[in-house]
Amino acid sequence: MQRAWIMAALAAGTTLFAQAPVPAPAPTPAPASAQTPAQAPAAIEKLGADGRDMWLVPVEAPGFDKLRPTQRKFAYYLYRAALAGDEIAYLQNHPKALDIKNLLEGVWSKKDALDEATRAGLGEYLKLVWANHGNYSHTHATKFVPANLTYDQLKKAVQIAVKKHAKFAVKGGGMAALAQLKPYIFDPKVDPIQVNQVPGVDPIATSSNGLYDKGLTLKAIQALPEATQAQVNVRFAKKGKKAVAQVFKVGGVYGAQLDTVVYWLQKALPYVEDEIAKVTMPDGTVKTRFEANANQKQALEDLIAFFKTGDEATFKKHSIAWLQTKSTVDYLNGFYEVYKDPRSVIGAYEANVSYKSDSTVIDKLSQNAAYFEAKMPWDAKWKRDKITPPVASIVNVLMETGDAGPISPAAYNLPNYADIRKDYGSKNVVLLNVEGASSAATREAGIKASYRAEDQDLIRKDGSLARQWVVYMHEVIGHGSGQPDASLAGADPATKIGPTYSALEECRADCVALYQFPDPKLEEIGAVSAADHADAYKAMLLQYLTGQLMANGLVEGDTIHEAHLRGRQLVLNYLVDNQKGVQVDQVDGHAYVEITDLAKAREGVGEVLTKLQTIKAMGDQAGAEAFFGQYGTKVNKAWHDDAKARREALQLPKEKAFVFPKLVPVVEDMNGRQILKDVKVETGESFEDQMLRVEAWGKSRDLDPTAAPKK
Ligand SMILES: [Zn+2]
Repeated sequence: MQRAWIMAALAAGTTLFAQAPVPAPAPTPAPASAQTPAQAPAAIEKLGADGRDMWLVPVEAPGFDKLRPTQRKFAYYLYRAALAGDEIAYLQNHPKALDIKNLLEGVWSKKDALDEATRAGLGEYLKLVWANHGNYSHTHATKFVPANLTYDQLKKAVQIAVKKHAKFAVKGGGMAALAQLKPYIFDPKVDPIQVNQVPGVDPIATSSNGLYDKGLTLKAIQALPEATQAQVNVRFAKKGKKAVAQVFKVGGVYGAQLDTVVYWLQKALPYVEDEIAKVTMPDGTVKTRFEANANQKQALEDLIAFFKTGDEATFKKHSIAWLQTKSTVDYLNGFYEVYKDPRSVIGAYEANVSYKSDSTVIDKLSQNAAYFEAKMPWDAKWKRDKITPPVASIVNVLMETGDAGPISPAAYNLPNYADIRKDYGSKNVVLLNVEGASSAATREAGIKASYRAEDQDLIRKDGSLARQWVVYMHEVIGHGSGQPDASLAGADPATKIGPTYSALEECRADCVALYQFPDPKLEEIGAVSAADHADAYKAMLLQYLTGQLMANGLVEGDTIHEAHLRGRQLVLNYLVDNQKGVQVDQVDGHAYVEITDLAKAREGVGEVLTKLQTIKAMGDQAGAEAFFGQYGTKVNKAWHDDAKARREALQLPKEKAFVFPKLVPVVEDMNGRQILKDVKVETGESFEDQMLRVEAWGKSRDLDPTAAPKK
């Protein structure tokens, strides 16, 4: 529930999570902008009609070579663990997703034997399948079919590949698999929606993911014990009319992948970072020495035990140690976000490896979490009296797999467990290199397309700054804020509110940022200068609302499914419909957001925020559905057609995926044993090579999978 997306919409450089810390000359150099990495100069590969379905954007790893060798080795083992789990995301996304990928990869291994049109059409579809981990949009949870590849072309390609002895890692080999997978690949009406959370329908029966066997219903799940219903690391099989939980663990569901994840995590364990410890000597003097980072060591040990046993309590233990770990190299590996589960409970597998960039400003924001909590607009009884400042860091990622990448969030706030967040807080992570590469690609074109002429310079001046602070505040003081009403007696509002909860929580975190940014504290911590504060706030609101207006052009059909988009639609509609200082103007036949009264707009945001917190605190399911039903569910048809046309004219992408730096192990042979001496980073790999490497390296237990096989 805690993820900030680099939405396709950001393509416009306009959306909330769009633009990057690559500011046009800003009068107030904010500390945050100083950390901006150099713009990635490598070429962007473009997929789909007019190159607009997806851009594949290269990401760099500034400063990785400055880490200590042991930190680089630690990162490498965590990197291999992340690659090893990647396949799990296919298995979770749809029962046939991994088979489809394996079939296509088998054909692709003989791509040189295909005619040009087939190769192009297949390559495009395969890259989209890789990026999304299957044939459903990662962002919109709706199915896509090949745009430039017919069934007959694919059939002929499979025949050629079979004749050329291609290996097919799918049951029955090439032709039998194709016959079986045909409707899943080519028929848009077969399993059209991956995650259906529209009120009034059975979310389990109408969703097509790999977490529930076909034929199961919400009723069957609700017949299970509550503890089973609440478990994050299970899928449900259908036995007769009943649902049976199957646990994700070594020896269980996803056992093969998790076994390899565990193998690499165990290799990482001896390289846990050192930290400086103070030791009192017998004579009373205090000396410092290096000791293994205790939290990090504990976290990794618990994570390994969790994957081996499937005992969720161990994962919670891991999460507590992990969120308290302050380190240079960090990771995600496990079952976290719930967007792929129509009940918003089961965690999608995701993993990454990152290393810290300068986090001074975000630390200061975090230290003031209690200050902002006290200034929230809602009733005092729903404010936390005790605030554990969240651990916040700005990092560069080396790799993201599973549900985390190559389509990447801009930031995340984890863990999601409400009880842990309440007692221990959470960790907030902003992905600096990904965000920077993403926005640099499309910024100026997006500004020209999306804003009234008189607003464009404001966005050029303050857009990047405003964008960063929406993300920071959403993550650091947004999600962690507020507390449930005493009448809930400890019950989790997420469970009470049900499918609308994800959208409600994302919207609430956004509104915290949009409401709190004008506070003078932001000047004090060095986020913005007093002279520029009002401009930056206007830029923030304008950018957020414009991004959403333009995002209407991305959603096919009349319903918005994705949680963040639903939240932003609610804010935009609420402010416009209730005349809260915001209106949508028509200029030359195009719709533009205009802020007519900044103070009134903030007041409107405060109203939305108070209402969202009230609904959350009370666990008010009907209230959530009514509020989102009125403002945050339907696509605005006029905005859709207009924004779609404007985007088409600009050839902006609907989605971006990333090409991460490649870690290259430096391996030495010591008396027949392979030893990892160091790790180097390389950029410039193609997306295709990256994804084939994820596949090959993910299954390998060789220290250097590219080395010639041992005899
Ligand atoms: Zn979030």
